[in-house]
Amino acid sequence: MINLANRVQTLTPSTTLAITAKANELKAQGVDVIGLGAGEPDYNTPENILEAAYQSMKDGKTKYTPAGGLPALKEAIINKLQRDQGLSYSPKEVMVGIGAKHVLYTLFQVLLNEGDEVIIPIPYWVSYPEQVKLAQGVPVYIEATASQEYKISPLQLREAITDRTKAVILNTPSNPTGMIYSKEELEALAEVCREFDILIVSDEIYEKLIYGDVKHTSIATLSKDAKKRTILINGVSKSHSMTGWRIGYAAADANLIKAMTDLASHSTSNPVTTSQYAAIEAYNGPQDAVEEMRQAFEERLDVIFPKLQAIPGFTVIRPQGAFYLLPDVSEAATKTGYASVDDFVTALLTEANVAVIPGSGFGANSTIRLSYATSLETLTEAVERIHQFVTSKW
Ligand code: PLP
Repeated sequence: MINLANRVQTLTPSTTLAITAKANELKAQGVDVIGLGAGEPDYNTPENILEAAYQSMKDGKTKYTPAGGLPALKEAIINKLQRDQGLSYSPKEVMVGIGAKHVLYTLFQVLLNEGDEVIIPIPYWVSYPEQVKLAQGVPVYIEATASQEYKISPLQLREAITDRTKAVILNTPSNPTGMIYSKEELEALAEVCREFDILIVSDEIYEKLIYGDVKHTSIATLSKDAKKRTILINGVSKSHSMTGWRIGYAAADANLIKAMTDLASHSTSNPVTTSQYAAIEAYNGPQDAVEEMRQAFEERLDVIFPKLQAIPGFTVIRPQGAFYLLPDVSEAATKTGYASVDDFVTALLTEANVAVIPGSGFGANSTIRLSYATSLETLTEAVERIHQFVTSKW
């Protein structure tokens, strides 16, 4: 038996894995399981991006690049941030990494000393707490309830801050809640961060997936002070259906970016060269496909949301962005005879053959997460199965 390092002793595997493994097991036995766990768009990467990647390979652009990304990709990102957010960054303030996930990992590694606290709103994206802990930091949770639309208040933030607080993570639009902070809400939170001099990690990976008339605001746009203390995280995974290409970036203070780049130079080296050329096209080329995908997600949401609302014991807020629904199913679980939502989720899989993610993985035990990044036909069938399962046991 090999003794593993202390830092991985408490590392919990992604919660999605357990349910996915069970779902695959059933599928292998020939059971018709519908999976609603997907964390990625169900479209292929747009053709122009594929072409650009292929062309770069044929042109022999298959070697190492600078660790923090190709100058041309940094320029494309800088232009994107200017075009979409009106934000100005220099190349020294941008670092490209292997997906937003690894960029965040690198960030916490260069930012945190042992015991430094990072405030994480619940429900959270599963990797935030683990990444903070891997950097010897301490996650400090704030619970954002359904009654506050899963968004933290300035007062809650203020109360969570201690003299060890280094940063707060804001994810808007949010995975798993789909909620979006308004400009006014962000202004109030930025003011607290200014007052207590803490950093803001702003994860904007779902920026392009927004429904109805809400708008995405990057907290970095609110003032000079807010920009200075924000580490803006984004990437092409969700916007351009490029999850497998692994390109994400951070835009922030030049010193911080230099440290992150130095760490990358000794850990990953550059993100895959071909993916970088693909990402240049993603940002510089036509954006029609981004909007087409957004519209398709919104159409699915329009169909599926009322159907989910109609399930007895399900309480669900209409999400404003991303591609997840997070119903509170505690009543349905109790009324159908399950001791916990986790047990309800297991029964949904084994009896109704629908795989969803239990909210416990996001710190939200009374919820389940359903992804609508799948065809409308599949979604409709899945929700019908859930509805029938609940009513038959009620
Ligand atoms: N942030 C959030 C909230 C996410 O949901 C994801 C992916 O699921 C990421 C970051 C990471 O994206 P990627 O590493 O594919 O760029």
